[in-house]
Amino acid sequence: MNRPALRRIVVVGGGLAGHTAATTLRAEGYDGDLVLLTDEPCPPYDRPPLSKELLAGTVDDTALRISDDIEVRTGSSALRLLPDAVETTTGTEPYDGLVIATGSSPVRLADPSPRVHELRTASDALRLREALRTASSVAVVGAGWIGNEVATRAAALNLKVTVIDAASAPLARALPAALARHLIPWYADLDIDLRLDTPVDRVDERGVHLASGGHVDADLVVMGVGARPATAWLRGSGVPPALDGAIEADATLRAGRGRVFAAGDIVRWPSRLFGDRLRVEHWEHAAASGQAAARNLLGLAEPYDPVPYFWSEQLGHRIQYVGHHRPADTFVLRGNPAGAAPWAALWFEGPRLRAALSIDDPRTARDARHLIADQVPLSTDRATDPNVRLNQTANLKS
Ligand SMILES: Cc1cc2nc3c(=O)[nH]c(=O)nc-3n(C[C@H](O)[C@H](O)[C@H](O)COP(=O)(O)OP(=O)(O)OC[C@H]3O[C@@H](n4cnc5c(N)ncnc54)[C@H](O)[C@@H]3O)c2cc1C
Repeated sequence: MNRPALRRIVVVGGGLAGHTAATTLRAEGYDGDLVLLTDEPCPPYDRPPLSKELLAGTVDDTALRISDDIEVRTGSSALRLLPDAVETTTGTEPYDGLVIATGSSPVRLADPSPRVHELRTASDALRLREALRTASSVAVVGAGWIGNEVATRAAALNLKVTVIDAASAPLARALPAALARHLIPWYADLDIDLRLDTPVDRVDERGVHLASGGHVDADLVVMGVGARPATAWLRGSGVPPALDGAIEADATLRAGRGRVFAAGDIVRWPSRLFGDRLRVEHWEHAAASGQAAARNLLGLAEPYDPVPYFWSEQLGHRIQYVGHHRPADTFVLRGNPAGAAPWAALWFEGPRLRAALSIDDPRTARDARHLIADQVPLSTDRATDPNVRLNQTANLKS
């Protein structure tokens, strides 16, 4: 490897991507100055448990381990990117290598207040956990991944739970409605009142005001209507955000001239495996892209081309998603969504598996991941048979 001479690397963003980038730089032998900036009041921590174990009270702290040879600046917000320095609320940080990993900010329908909540940070989660202790009813706006996890917890506490979404099926941003409609009975199973096709006009201390003129009264409102890349601070820099706020990178996650790389929720990169530019908001990608950005900053020039993977605990079920599907891909069911047994959905482009969603079926998710990575052609007929293990459905004639 032809290692560039780097003396001061700055990582902007103290989430998993920034944390992994910084720890990888040290693990790879980088011994110059290394500063990690985060606008949060605490060092990096893990987010998936915030809506699961931390909300349930089985853990109080999700801090990630970080070594003393990484200078962590908490409460330091990046304001402007210059060609050789980052201007922040606490000063100017010169760099000759940079990793941008500022993640996502939740979309707000109202400012958080004692009765209106969002869930992105550890302090959001602790505040919501406390509020759930004394509430008797909760309205969740958005039947997305995080909204559903909050609804699951509130239902476990025997609260009256209403989930409201403008779409005609849950998880509308992630899954086709024809597939996601199979999840609708899960809400009734937990006594959750799911209101689909119900646009919200506004949210306030009195509850949720519907576009139809109706009103859902609740002790607490939780906004779960998605997140946007936190990249406004990069406007006017040499790394301008795209229209949707994402940072466009090349196959090595290089995001600008010189030694500027991006990782985590904010980055979009070209995937050779999927023939598409991808951006995903997943834990595993945050870690893997943080590692790749750090290694490439040190001169490795390795293409980043993983099979994306995501898991969630939704309404008493374990959902796993691997790969990447496009609207034009054919999707088929494996197993019976109306039955109690595990089932899955598979997306194909011709005989090639592009993505799989598995419900309580980790083995199919695991098999799918290998088959997608190795681009093994499958017999689509056999792949839909839940009695045949997915990795035994290769079509050897193709
Ligand atoms: C409640 C919750 C549950 C989740 N559950 C799952 C799950 O079950 N499975 C899964 O795969 N994924 C899950 N995710 C998604 C996963 O956690 C994210 O994809 C991952 O955290 C992204 O990491 P990141 O480092 O890119 O961004 P982030 O984690 O958002 O970190 C970015 C950091 O940068 C800081 N920052 C932002 N702007 C600035 C600035 N201008 N200056 C300085 N610092 C700044 C932010 O405050 C933050 O600390 C969940 C996310 C949440 C919020």
